[in-house]
Amino acid sequence: MTKLEVLTENRNRANDYVHEVYELVKKRNPDEKEFLQATREIFDSLRPVFAKHPEYIANGILERITEPERIISFRVAWEDDKGKVQVNRGFRVQFNSDLGPYKGGIRFHPSVNSSIMKFLAFEQIFKNALTGQPIGAGKGGSDFDPKGKSDREIMRFTQSFMTELSKHIGPDIDVPAGDIGVGKREIGYMFGQYNRLKGGYEAGVLTGKDPNHGGSLGRKEATGYGTVYFVEEMLNEYGQSIEGKTVIVSGSGNVSTYAMEKAQQLGAKVIACSDSDGYIVDSEGINLATVKRLKEVENKRIADYMKDHPNAEYHPDCSDIWSVACDIALPCATQNEIDEISAHTLIGNGVIAIGEGANMPCTIEAINLFHENRVLFAPAKAANAGGVAVSAMEMSQNSMRLSWTEAEVDERLKVVMHNIFESCKKAAENYGHPGNFAMGANIAGFLKVANAMVAHGIR
Ligand code: NDP
Repeated sequence: MTKLEVLTENRNRANDYVHEVYELVKKRNPDEKEFLQATREIFDSLRPVFAKHPEYIANGILERITEPERIISFRVAWEDDKGKVQVNRGFRVQFNSDLGPYKGGIRFHPSVNSSIMKFLAFEQIFKNALTGQPIGAGKGGSDFDPKGKSDREIMRFTQSFMTELSKHIGPDIDVPAGDIGVGKREIGYMFGQYNRLKGGYEAGVLTGKDPNHGGSLGRKEATGYGTVYFVEEMLNEYGQSIEGKTVIVSGSGNVSTYAMEKAQQLGAKVIACSDSDGYIVDSEGINLATVKRLKEVENKRIADYMKDHPNAEYHPDCSDIWSVACDIALPCATQNEIDEISAHTLIGNGVIAIGEGANMPCTIEAINLFHENRVLFAPAKAANAGGVAVSAMEMSQNSMRLSWTEAEVDERLKVVMHNIFESCKKAAENYGHPGNFAMGANIAGFLKVANAMVAHGIR
C-alpha cells in the first residue's frame, strides 16, 4: 500500500470507530440529551487522534471512557420549616479515576437529572486532565431548589444529602466541591455533617471550604479569574489584549462575579450581566460592589441593581443578553445559553472572542459558527479549569496542613492557565487544526487520560 492509502485507511477506520461507538452511546443513553451533546462534541474532535493512534481503538478507550465507573442515585428526605416532609433526588456520578480520586462539584438546581450529572462528570474527565493535577472526574447534585429556602432548611437538606453521600466519598476516593447553588455555606454544612458521621476531621474530603475553616485562599475567585486569564492568553496569541475591550458576562453568581472582577482589573469595561430573571446593561461599566452586595450578602435579584444605578437598563429576558454589542462575551451561567441564533447576533455585532466560564454554555452549532467566522473561542474544559485546579491545590494544602497566601495561589493559577493554553494550542496544531482551541482541549485532555487507561489495563 502507498503512504496515502495507509493514511486513508486509518482515517476511514477512525471514522467508523467513532461512528460505531457514538451509536452505542446513543442506544445506551437514549433520553440523555445533554450527555449525548457532550459526547458528540468530544467524539468529533478525536477522529484525527484515532487515525494516528489505532492502539486506542484496540484498547476500547471510547467505549470505556463513556461509561461511568459508578453512578449513585439516592433519596434525600428532609423536613421543611412548616414540618412537611420533602423528598429530593441526590446523585453522584463517579466517572473516571485513572488520574486520581474522583473530583467535581455538587449542583443544587431543580433542573438536575441523570443526563445533566453525566454530561458534567464526563466533561470533568478532560478538564481535570488538562490541569495537570492528579485528579479523576466526578459530579453530583440534587434537584433541590435552594431559592426561597430558609437557612435552616438549607442546613437540614444538606445534612440529609451528606448522610448518604458520605458512604461513597473520602479524601482518597472522591472529593466534591461547589457548583450552581452550592457555595461555601452549603459546603460548610456538608463538611460538618461528614466529619460528624466519621467521628473525626478529614480536611481533604471537600474543597471550596471557607478559608477560615480549611479552605484555600483564592478558590472563590479561581474559576472566573482563570477564565479571563485563558481569554487573555488567547487574545495575546493574536496580538490583542482584553484592555479597553467591552465585555458582557451572563449570570451574577460565583464564576460571573470573579470573571467580571478580573476583566475589570485588566482594563476591560464590563457593561452587562444577568441572573435567571433578566439582565442589566450599564454603559458606564457594571458597579461590581453593588453586584457583590446584592448577590453575596443580600440574596437579591439583579433587577435590584436599578435602585442604586437608575441610569442603567433592566431587561426581563435573561437569554436576550447576547443582543448587547460587545467585543468579548463570557457565558458564565449555565449550559446551552448561546445557541445558533444568539451566536449569529453576537457575530453580527462584531464579537471577537468568546470565553466559556460555565460548562457547555454554547451549543455545537454555535461553536461551529464562531469557528467559521474566525471568532476566537475558549472552550469550557480549558477556560474554566482554574476552579478545579485551585481545588486540587486546596487538597494539597490540606494534606500538608498549611495555607498558601492568596498571591501564591493566584500565581500558581496563572501558571496552570498558561500551561493549559499551551497544551490546547499545541494539540490543535499537531492534529492539523491550528487556532481551534476547543479541538485542542479535547485532544490534549483525552491523550492524558487515554494513556493512563492503557497503562492501567482493560477494566
Ligand atoms: P452560581 O449558582 O454561583 O451562579 C449561577 C448564576 O447563573 C446565577 O446568577 C444564576 O441566576 C444564573 N443562572 C442559572 N441558570 C440560569 C439560566 N438558565 N439563565 C440565566 N442565568 C442563569 O453558580 P456558579 O457560578 O458556581 O456556576 C456557573 C457555571 O459555571 C455552571 O455552569 C458551573 O457548572 C460552572 N462552573 C463552576 C465552577 C465553580 O468553581 N463554581 C467551576 C467550573 C465551572 P439565579 O441566581 O437567578 O439562578
